[in-house]
Amino acid sequence: MLFTSDIADRTWPPGSPRQASGGLALPSPARCCYLRPIMAEQATIIDGKALAQTVRGEVKTRAESFLAKHGRQPGLHVVLVGDDPASHVYVRNKEKAAAQCGIAGEVHRLPADTSMEVLLAKVAELNAAPGIDGILVQLPLPKHLDDQTVVDAVDPAKDVDGLHPVNAGLLVVGRPGLRPCTPSGCMRMLSSIGTDLKGKRAIVVGRSTLVGKPIALMLLAENATVTMAHSRTVDLAARVAECDIVVAAVGVPELIKGSWIKPGAVVIDVGINRLDDGRLVGDVEYATALPRASAITPVPGGVGPMTIAMLLSNTVDAAERRV
Ligand code: NAD
Repeated sequence: MLFTSDIADRTWPPGSPRQASGGLALPSPARCCYLRPIMAEQATIIDGKALAQTVRGEVKTRAESFLAKHGRQPGLHVVLVGDDPASHVYVRNKEKAAAQCGIAGEVHRLPADTSMEVLLAKVAELNAAPGIDGILVQLPLPKHLDDQTVVDAVDPAKDVDGLHPVNAGLLVVGRPGLRPCTPSGCMRMLSSIGTDLKGKRAIVVGRSTLVGKPIALMLLAENATVTMAHSRTVDLAARVAECDIVVAAVGVPELIKGSWIKPGAVVIDVGINRLDDGRLVGDVEYATALPRASAITPVPGGVGPMTIAMLLSNTVDAAERRV
């Protein structure tokens, strides 16, 4: 599981002003390097870049001890089909990050007109290779290829994206498995500030297979009482206002208004939306949420940097489970 045990004692003392005002138990900003206090009464900003650095450091240490023990580095192979410029950037970033953490890797670049047969044969080849622990097929695939068929073809033990139905099922039944990277990153952010989820009201806005559904299940596994909201939810403002934890994974710029946020709530904003003027914003109206929340992730620099870090962590997890 992704929670660290080293934060258990990092809570506000009983009767502190934040607890008295109904806020969640949070660590003292002075004691937690991931917190950037702005003002005494304002939200703490959860620094995703700093936390991702820490996770990468942990991965590097684990990868080194894996090498020392098993005589090889953990291996992550990425399959990239076509010429989508954004996908090429994402894959280059993953390649660089893996190398920095002591993970051996290779990117298999296939032309845009690659057939399903050729792609499935490549996945089968990687499934069979003993030194490969993680396989990631960069999505979305070109239109003539079916994403789900390819995800289904990856060996679940090497599915470091955590998207295979076997891993999704393991999450549902609460058994160990490879978890999707962005949701894992969100949970790690919550644990990094010592958020006690037990009995808390949490809402996840967005029900995608990639983000919303797995986060909701992970929050449930930590004993939160979880509401899943989506495009048909009636009175979203009222549902958000009831909750101590708000996770936004919608893809609509600033959909969730600051005035909806319950005072003292923790806000995790997964959304990354580019506005016409070039600015990047989340799904939460950050400026107005900041004075109401007790902690909040910024966009950019929040959840985004955590995703690759958790991919690397999953790769070492997969390697350790396979030997
Ligand atoms: P998606 O389009 O697959 O799902 C969006 C969900 O939002 C759907 O379930 C839909 O029901 C819900 N929704 C849409 N409009 C709504 C509304 N008005 N009210 C309530 N719910 C509504 O998107 P996704 O893949 O889950 O991504 C969501 C956002 O997270 C996007 O901005 C995406 O770019 C971002 N994202 C970020 C990372 C990261 O690493 N930070 C990773 C994945 C996705």
